[in-house]
Amino acid sequence: MDGVVRTDGAPVTVRPQPAVDPFGRTITYLRVSVTDRCDFRCVYCMAEDMTFLPKRDLLTLEELDRVCSTFVALGVRKLRLTGGEPLVRRNVMSLVRSLSRHLKSGALKELTLTTNGSQLAKHAAELAECGVRRINVSLDTLDPARFTELTRWGKLDQVLDGIAAAKAAGIHVKINAVALKGVNDAEFDDLIRWCGTHGHDLCLIEVMPMGDIDGEGGARTRADQYLPLSLARADLARRWTLEDTDYRTGGPARYVNVREAGIRLGFITPLTHNFCESCNRVRLTCTGQLFMCLGQEDAADLRAPMRASADDAPLVDAIREAITRKPKGHDFVIDRRRSGPAVPRHMSVTGG
Ligand code: SAM
Ligand code: SF4
Repeated sequence: MDGVVRTDGAPVTVRPQPAVDPFGRTITYLRVSVTDRCDFRCVYCMAEDMTFLPKRDLLTLEELDRVCSTFVALGVRKLRLTGGEPLVRRNVMSLVRSLSRHLKSGALKELTLTTNGSQLAKHAAELAECGVRRINVSLDTLDPARFTELTRWGKLDQVLDGIAAAKAAGIHVKINAVALKGVNDAEFDDLIRWCGTHGHDLCLIEVMPMGDIDGEGGARTRADQYLPLSLARADLARRWTLEDTDYRTGGPARYVNVREAGIRLGFITPLTHNFCESCNRVRLTCTGQLFMCLGQEDAADLRAPMRASADDAPLVDAIREAITRKPKGHDFVIDRRRSGPAVPRHMSVTGG
C-alpha cells in the first residue's frame, strides 16, 4: 500500500492484499493496549493488589507506532488506543501525535481512544488537535461515593471535568457503563437523562468473566452482578421510547434512539447475544501479543519478529499468519459453579 510511512520516513512496504481471516472477515480495526497499568482499580476489572508487567517487557512508543503503521498499511482503517489507562502511559501523546500522520495522509479513517477520563482535562485539546474526533469514556455512575466504591481510587469530579474538556475541544464523547445488578442498575434513567443534557451517547455493557478480580470470590461476585441487558432494556422500555435504529459503529453494540432524551443508547451483550459474525478487529497488548479474539486465549507474538529485523517483512508475515488463526467466535460463559473466570486474562491486558 502506498503512502504509509514509518516514523523514520521510510515507507512501510507491504503486499497490497488486505488482511482477511478464514471466515471472510476483513480486518480493518486494531485496538492497542498501550499499558496494562491504571490509576483506578475498578472492582469488575482488577484486583486491588494487581501485579503489572515489568516495564522492560513493554513495546516502546516507537515500536507501538511501527506495529500500528504496519497494520494501517495492511488495511486497518480504525485505531483505538486503550489499556489499562492509555493516558497514564508516559509520553503517550507523542504516540498519538505521530499516529495522526496517517489521518492526514488519509490512510487511516479514525484514531480514537477508550479512557477512564481521569487525565482527559489535561490532554483533550491536544487530542483534538491531533484529529481525534470521538472518544469513549467509561463512567458507571454519577454518584460520587458509588464512583469511588466502584473504581476504588477514582474521583468523579476529575472525570466529569475531563469529559467537559473533551466536549469543549469539539470531541464527541460516548459514555460506556458496565451494567451491574444491584450496583448501578437503578441509575440508568439518570445516566440517560445526564447524557441527553450533555449531548453524549451512552452504551451499556454486560460484565464479562475476564481475569481474577478477588481470588476465589471473583467469579461469584461477577455472577451475582451479571445483569442480562435484555432485562435492562425491557425495564427501560417501560419509561422511555426506545426506537430501533440500524446505526452501527462497526462494533458489537446494537443501538436504539431514546426519543425523550435525544440520545443513542447502545447495548453490548457478549453473553446474551453473539456478535462475532461481523467481528473486524484484532487486539494488540502493550508487550506486542496479538489477540485475534477478546474471548479466547490464542495470541501471536509480534515483538520478536519486529525486533528481529529492521525490515517489516517478518512482522507482516507474522500478522498475516496470526489472522489465519482468528477464531469464529468467543467462549464467554458466566457460570456460578465455575471457581475462576472464563478467560484468565484481565480486560486491562487487551483493553476491552
Ligand atoms: N481504562 C480505560 C477505561 O476504563 O475506559 C480503558 C480500558 S478498560 C479495560 C475498557 C473498558 O472495559 C471499560 O469501559 C471498562 O468498563 C470495561 N471493562 C473492564 N472490565 C470489564 C469486565 N469484566 N466486563 C465488562 N467490561 C469491562
Ligand atoms: Fe482501569 Fe479501565 Fe480497568 Fe477501570 S476499567 S481498572 S479504569 S483499566
